[in-house]
Amino acid sequence: MNQHLLTICYLIGSITFILGLKMLSNPASARKGNLLAAGGMSIAIFGTIFLFSYDENGTTHYLGNYIWIFAALIIGAIVGTLAAKKVQMTAMPEMVSLFNGMGGACAALISIVEFNHLSKELDATPPAEIIQKIQEVQPTVLIIVLGLIIGSVSFAGSMIAWGKLNGKVKDFSFTGQNILNMVVLAAALGLAVYMIFNPQQHMLLYAILGLSLFYGIFFVMPIGGADMPVVISLLNSFTGVAAACGGFLYDNKVMLTGGILVGAAGTLLTILMCKAMNRSLKNVLIGSFGGNKKGVAGVAGAQGEHKEISLSDAAMVMSYANKVLIVPGYGLAVAQAQHTCHELEKILTEKGVEVKYAIHPVAGRMPGHMNVLLAEADVSYDILMEMEQANDEFPTTDVVLILGANDVVNPAAKSDPASPIYGMPILDVEQAKTVIVNKRSMKPGYAGIENDLFFRPKTSMLFGDAKKVLQDLCTEIKNA
Ligand code: NDP
Repeated sequence: MNQHLLTICYLIGSITFILGLKMLSNPASARKGNLLAAGGMSIAIFGTIFLFSYDENGTTHYLGNYIWIFAALIIGAIVGTLAAKKVQMTAMPEMVSLFNGMGGACAALISIVEFNHLSKELDATPPAEIIQKIQEVQPTVLIIVLGLIIGSVSFAGSMIAWGKLNGKVKDFSFTGQNILNMVVLAAALGLAVYMIFNPQQHMLLYAILGLSLFYGIFFVMPIGGADMPVVISLLNSFTGVAAACGGFLYDNKVMLTGGILVGAAGTLLTILMCKAMNRSLKNVLIGSFGGNKKGVAGVAGAQGEHKEISLSDAAMVMSYANKVLIVPGYGLAVAQAQHTCHELEKILTEKGVEVKYAIHPVAGRMPGHMNVLLAEADVSYDILMEMEQANDEFPTTDVVLILGANDVVNPAAKSDPASPIYGMPILDVEQAKTVIVNKRSMKPGYAGIENDLFFRPKTSMLFGDAKKVLQDLCTEIKNA
């Protein structure tokens, strides 16, 4: 009876996970999707804790260890909730990286624990039966070593990515590093294959663990900071696959479904991000884009003088416009200016101006960053336009207001084959009649390159922190 109930719990967990993922694809349903998937997974977890049982020597055993399990659950829930409440939107990739690393570590630990169980069984097997026993356990050892390698690469890589994003870990590379990485990975895989045929060599497991951790660290170390979100998404897919290995080991359907879905989602996201930046995954992993900003700066070769616009002039130009398109970027997120931005949008709309937002797929520091940020400020989804749609609207737009965006509006992506962002689709803001750019200085954006747009005749710079500038614009327009 309990087993049937548990199967139903797993079914609920799997279905809600799939539905939740589907709902995450739309900002309007994302929040509910997240709750639905989390709710379903909670049912699966509590089902496992209370309903899972196995028979040994004719006796039914339950999981037990409730104090340990609940102490860990409570501590984890408190830490997770506090961290999620405290985290700034701009630090979200860091947090995703940390959580992902924990998933990888869990998968690796599962492999170690399960291998220890297996070792005891092997040790207790009489010599005459050992060959048959080894053949029996080979599929399990395969899953164990796979989970161990993938999980520990994901854990070590995610920790380095986390350190890089919060500035604690600096880029590090040396000549021949990629070759060394390949050798280390090949050694880990070679030992894993050896172990499948010689599972009684217990200590090899720790050698594989060490090599995998080494690979995880040195594989992420040389990758530039600008590419971290892509790397995190890739590591996320690794964690998913490692969790799926755990699902195989325990014959746990929900773990298997969850792991496969996370693995697939992470892979798709990685591909989409690379596409949106028009770069191959290989280029991301060994291209060192954005890692050495000094070396890259100036590639676009921006020249000339920029011109500035005063707050009152900017306010006037926008008040008398028929249509204003706002381009939010990473700077808007840093300044936490989404609410003030919504305020400006409302004031302009009340004045009869048509206001919309143009969202570039990689604006900010992670996919969907701008959508989430604007949704938080209650901006209506109807006026959020994706890049293609926005590019059709720029020619009929009077004013484009760029708020802390830089790379996503850099014309070098279209015109300068020497630029590291060449080929990345951009928002064609220049098609509009007037372009107002708000940022704090002439410093480059994430890719570390100059932006010729700032020197073009239609463009005027409105310097200052995005939130302060938006507040002042609201006041100016209200008083006009
Ligand atoms: P950028 O990083 O290119 O530019 C942001 C600009 O904001 C900076 O030039 C900065 O200029 C300005 N800024 C910073 N703080 C403030 C502030 N408080 N007020 C006003 N302006 C501010 O951002 P984009 O959004 O244009 O581009 C995103 C970049 O991130 C792309 O290169 C993309 O490839 C990369 N990326 C994005 C991913 C994603 O999934 N979204 C994933 C991986 C990479 P100043 O210092 O002068 O103020």
